[in-house]
Order: sequence, then structure tokens, then C-alpha cells
Amino acid sequence: MGLLDVPVSPAPIERFRTVLGEKQYAELLELVGRARQEIGSTVVWNVNSTARGGGVAELLQALIAYSRGAGIDARWLVVDGPPEFFQVTKRLHNELHGSAVDRVKLTDEERAIYLKVSEHNAAALLERMRPGDVVLLHDPQTAGLVAPLVRAGSLVVWRCHIGTDQAGESVRGAWEFLTPLVREADAFVFHRQAFVWPGLDQRRVHLIRPSVDAFSPKNQDISPVAVHGILAAAGVLADGPASEAIYQRLDGTRGRVERRMFVDQEGPLPSDVPVVVQVSRWDALKDPAGVLQAFARAIAPAGDAHLLLGGPDVTAVADDPEGREVLAGCHAIRDELPEDVRARVHLAALPMEDVEENAAMVNALQRYATVVVQKSVAEGFGLTVAEAMWKGRPVVAGRVGGIQEQIEHGRSGILVNPTDLDEFAGAVNGLLGEPRRAARLGQAARERVRREFLGPRHLEDYGALVEELLRERAGAPGR
Ligand code: UDP
Repeated sequence: MGLLDVPVSPAPIERFRTVLGEKQYAELLELVGRARQEIGSTVVWNVNSTARGGGVAELLQALIAYSRGAGIDARWLVVDGPPEFFQVTKRLHNELHGSAVDRVKLTDEERAIYLKVSEHNAAALLERMRPGDVVLLHDPQTAGLVAPLVRAGSLVVWRCHIGTDQAGESVRGAWEFLTPLVREADAFVFHRQAFVWPGLDQRRVHLIRPSVDAFSPKNQDISPVAVHGILAAAGVLADGPASEAIYQRLDGTRGRVERRMFVDQEGPLPSDVPVVVQVSRWDALKDPAGVLQAFARAIAPAGDAHLLLGGPDVTAVADDPEGREVLAGCHAIRDELPEDVRARVHLAALPMEDVEENAAMVNALQRYATVVVQKSVAEGFGLTVAEAMWKGRPVVAGRVGGIQEQIEHGRSGILVNPTDLDEFAGAVNGLLGEPRRAARLGQAARERVRREFLGPRHLEDYGALVEELLRERAGAPGR
């Protein structure tokens, strides 16, 4: 057993010249210069539990690439362990999310497995590290590494990417187990104040919000022709320039969308109707069923809009029984709809074989949308919201979790009570009926993401944190 290296090629920081304002770009260059000086040859190790799939992996991919492009020696490792270890961490993950059905206390045996595997991973990491390096540990899978690394004299930051507005019993149960493990870290990072655990030294807590990568296949600017091409090639639109179904892969080469989505629909989307789109995992907390019901009840009767719900093709994923259930529930609701409404509902399962192709499909769907919705009833951050905002889309989303960090209600999107279907439908109908207001919201949304939710702001926050820790240590040797 050992840690897995994830190689990341440097990405040029100069790319941001094309998407940032002059002032913001100048600030970025200044920041990079200072970080290079302050961080110097210190290696910044990132450790998480997976190299592919999921928001954290995507985030690390981008931030490490830009850090390396900026001359910082950032590296990425993935923890290793037997299936029993990951069963424990999966449970902790669900508990922290507040989505665990019951709180099941870890047995002594499970605790022992978790701690032993963590010790092994920490030892493997220490073998590679030089004294003075910095380690950024991500999520519960790495919490057990904090104490051994701190003991060995490393500077350790533990970041929790999960959080919930209301900490119920299961959330507190996970805190109880994890707090003593992470307590000694030099810094803790959370997305937002509401997610901070009470048992930690609050002076060491830092708030850093996630970001989206403006140049990844999911968010890169693609022309309307390419949007049509991709959706035609994928079978969502009847016709379009399928030869133009192209995007740029992370390695800079040209990708082409070739697979089709599995779309439950009477026929492809007509090209002249407004479309309401939600793209997310098939998860009850994203409430796709609620979106469908609100559409059928109050959005479809008010106009000619269609609804497209998109998410990963869970039939191909063996380990997502919940996703299959939620998708099956949506099919069942759709089947029961009156014929004329059913004809306006499209359920799309996006192939997952090639994650970059999948991302290009998400990109095209979000860009094609007249209104993007994210009717989540709970959300750690809600990357899909920032993704849609970056594409200049007007967004209607649940006033929950990290979504509230992103949308300023009435300015850069609309926040609604996600359990009130009429309020949700009213907000969507309002935007469909007022294209000018919708366009204004979309523009403000893009500006907000440009300032607050792209890589440069995220790197700046990380840079400030690491520099602060290095300065503190320089001032207080031999803690
Ligand atoms: N996503 C994707 N393919 C899909 C559906 C969703 O890549 O078929 C992405 C979506 O674009 C977003 C991420 O999955 O980047 C979901 O992150 P979010 O924070 O919205 O929710 P989570 O799934 O982490 O709860």
C-alpha cells in the first residue's frame, strides 16, 4: 500500500489575461511574484482520496496546474487503503453531509482500520517530504493524517469541502469522531462560516470558497455553433452542425463529442423554444423530481418552455443505487404526465466513459439553457451554480448552503425557498417572461464569477494562507 502520485502538467497563468480585467490580471501577476518569493522552494503537497470524479478532484486538477504554471512546486497525492477503509470514510462523508439515514457509531474495529490506514499513508507521505514542506489535506479521508504529520513537524492544513446549514445528529456524530483527529492542524479551511465545526480553535479557521476552471471542457467559452453541434451530436437537438461538436481537452488537443446521451423524450428539443435546464447528480437533495412537478404544474401551463433534466448515466455506474432510484423516480413522474406536457420534458443521462466529453456536454447544456435551475434542498457549495453563472445564464436556485455565497438575490440570480414549488415556478416564469431582466442577471452573474469564483481568487486565498503559516513558523521556530 502506498500513496498514488497524480501527475499534473503546469498550466500557464497567462491564460487569465483573456478573461480577467486589466487590473485583476495585474493583481494576479503581482500575487504570483510574491508567492514565488515567499513560498520559494517549499513543496505544497495536496492529498485527497481520488484523482478523478467529483468536485474536489476537479478543483485540485486546476489549482495545482496553475500553481505549477506560476512556479510553485505543488503536488498531488491520493491516499490508498483497503475497501474497509473507504467504507468507513464513505459513511463519515454521508454523515457530514447530513444525508446519512441513521447515525451508526463506528465500531472499535472500524476506528482501528481508519487509524491504521491513516498512519500508513502518513508514513508514506513523510518519506517523500522534506522538512518544512506544507501539506494541504482534503476531506475526512485524510483527517487521520493530521496528527502524525504534525508530530513529524510538517505544516498541516486540513480542508473540509463538505458542510450543511443545519447540523443534525449524524453530522455531530462525524464531528465527534473527526475533531480530535484534526484538532492539531495549523489551519482549518471551510467554504463558509456556517459550516465551521464548533470544537476547533476558531483562530485557526480560514474561509475559502471553491472556484471553477474557466478553461476546462466544462466551462471554456465555446461558440453557439459548437453548442449546437455538441447537442446535435449528443441527440438532444434534432439537427445542427454535428461536425462542429468540438471542444478543447485539458491537454490542449481537440476533442469531439461522439457519444449520444440517453434521452427519455418524445422527440428532440425544437430549436425555437425556451429551455429550463438542471444538470446535476441524480440525488434527492438536488430534487429533480420537485423540478419536474413544478414544471408540470406551473411552468408548462404558463408558456411554451421545455424542461431538460441532465445527470450522469447511472445505469453504467455500479455503485450508485441511490442515483438509479432517483432517476427511475423521474422517469415514473414523466410517464404519468399528460401527453402535451410529457412531450416537453427531456430526461438526459450523460455518458461517463470520457469525463472530458461528459464535461463538454454539461457545458453545452448550460450554455443552451434559457434559464438554469438548481433546486437543491441542501448544498455544500453547488458548483453547477457557479458554472451556469460563468456562462452568463440567469439562475434560479435554492436558498441553501453555499449557493447563498454565490447568488446575490435579485442581482446575480434568484434565490427561492426550494420546498415551495410555487415560488420556484414563479421565479422561473418571471425570467422566461422578462428576457431583458434575465439577460441582466446573467451578465451580473458572469461578472460575479469573474471576480469571486475563478482560479485566481482561489489561488490568492491559498497563497495568503500558506504565506501566513510560513511566516508564523519562521517567527516561532520549534513549535
Ligand atoms: N456534473 C458532471 N456531469 C454530469 C452531472 C454533473 O460533470 O452529468 C458535474 C457538475 O457540472 C458539477 C459537479 O458534477 O461540476 C457537481 O458538483 P456540485 O457542487 O454541483 O454538486 P455535488 O455533486 O458535489 O453534490
